[in-house]
Amino acid sequence: MKILVVNSGSSSIKYQLLDMDGEKVLCKGLAERIGIPGSRIVHKKSGEKFIFEKPMPNHEEALKYVLELLKDEKVGAIKDYTEIDAVGHRVVHGGEKFVGSVLIDEEVINAIEEFSYLAPLHNPPNLMGIKAIMKLLPEVPNVGVFDTAFHAKMPEKAFLYAIPYEYYEKYKVRRYGFHGTSHRYVSRRAAEILGLDYSKAKIITVHLGNGASIAAVKNGKSVDTSMGFTPLEGLVMGTRSGDLDPSIVTFLMEKEGLTSEEVYTLLNKKSGVYGLTKQFSSDMRDIEDKALENDPVCRLVLDIYEYRIAKYIGAYAAAMNGVDAIVFTAGVGENSPITREEICENYLGYLGIKIDKEKNNIKGEERIISTQDSKVSVLVVPTNEELMIARDTKEIVEKGLKQLEY
Ligand code: ADP
Repeated sequence: MKILVVNSGSSSIKYQLLDMDGEKVLCKGLAERIGIPGSRIVHKKSGEKFIFEKPMPNHEEALKYVLELLKDEKVGAIKDYTEIDAVGHRVVHGGEKFVGSVLIDEEVINAIEEFSYLAPLHNPPNLMGIKAIMKLLPEVPNVGVFDTAFHAKMPEKAFLYAIPYEYYEKYKVRRYGFHGTSHRYVSRRAAEILGLDYSKAKIITVHLGNGASIAAVKNGKSVDTSMGFTPLEGLVMGTRSGDLDPSIVTFLMEKEGLTSEEVYTLLNKKSGVYGLTKQFSSDMRDIEDKALENDPVCRLVLDIYEYRIAKYIGAYAAAMNGVDAIVFTAGVGENSPITREEICENYLGYLGIKIDKEKNNIKGEERIISTQDSKVSVLVVPTNEELMIARDTKEIVEKGLKQLEY
């Protein structure tokens, strides 16, 4: 079975064509600058990279071109579109409705549209991708895999904010959480690697990319996560503040005469590591390099970054009344031995956690990095959201399901 995975953003589309017999990636790529001059596709097959520059005024044109590439004799992997058995789409927000992946029909499209008020920057472009594929490949089934779905069944005590209840009733203001596909993939994989029964395990997943979040996964379900109503809450991120006293928002609006849009931009795009380093960088590689050269600002920022992560790990160990494994993933989690080591060594000794420095000295590899006698296993598991989307899509289509329960 061949599955196309589509992750459609506002001006870019990531795609991967997978052969599910053996779960092999046949080819993949990124269409960028859609609707902007200079649009192009960076396409990869068997480790070789090809760049195609072509005007792509909208998502439909971009996907039409992507499909042509998939069929291309040299860079493609299929002879005919009938070889694509299904398309799996990443969708950011599924509100409270979607607690698992779903077969896309008119009703699902309407619901994704309805939840656009919760993710105005993401759901509309996700839908553009879905609608374009439906038009270009009308016979092929489409599946939606939501970033929020893994967290959608967390308990009320974890998802309700202590503000007047009417705002939950009126606008569904609650914690949703994001990166769900990644947390689900790496927690499952960690249980497999450790030989743990996923349905009985307590796992903390630490996804550290530009956006970053932590989840408490108990008995195979997400019971809490650090991102909230929007992806702004929780950890210190590349350009997002993470947790802060909400009074700072009104204080700054008054003092600096900021509009709600300006304060939104300030907290989402100018804060975090970028803001703390006085706009030096939002890239953790730069911060690490400077911290290792004893730059006082970068050393402090790395401390703040790690401290917030450690506090959340402590909180989630409490939330689950214990923890069997901690999993690091995404850009920083997979590639930064120093961040992993400092979090574990400086803060998590009380949990009986011990890191094997040699084993920890890896980038982008799946591995247990704790010592044999560590009371909690610590792992690095490179995330693979595309594979998870493709697996869900395959299962839904093969079993003729309407919705997949996690
Ligand atoms: P996203 O998908 O959220 O855009 P990624 O998962 O690609 O983000 O992660 C990007 C982050 O990972 C950046 O801050 C980048 O600096 C960091 N990163 C990548 N490689 C390394 C490394 N070797 N050491 C430290 N950080 C790294």
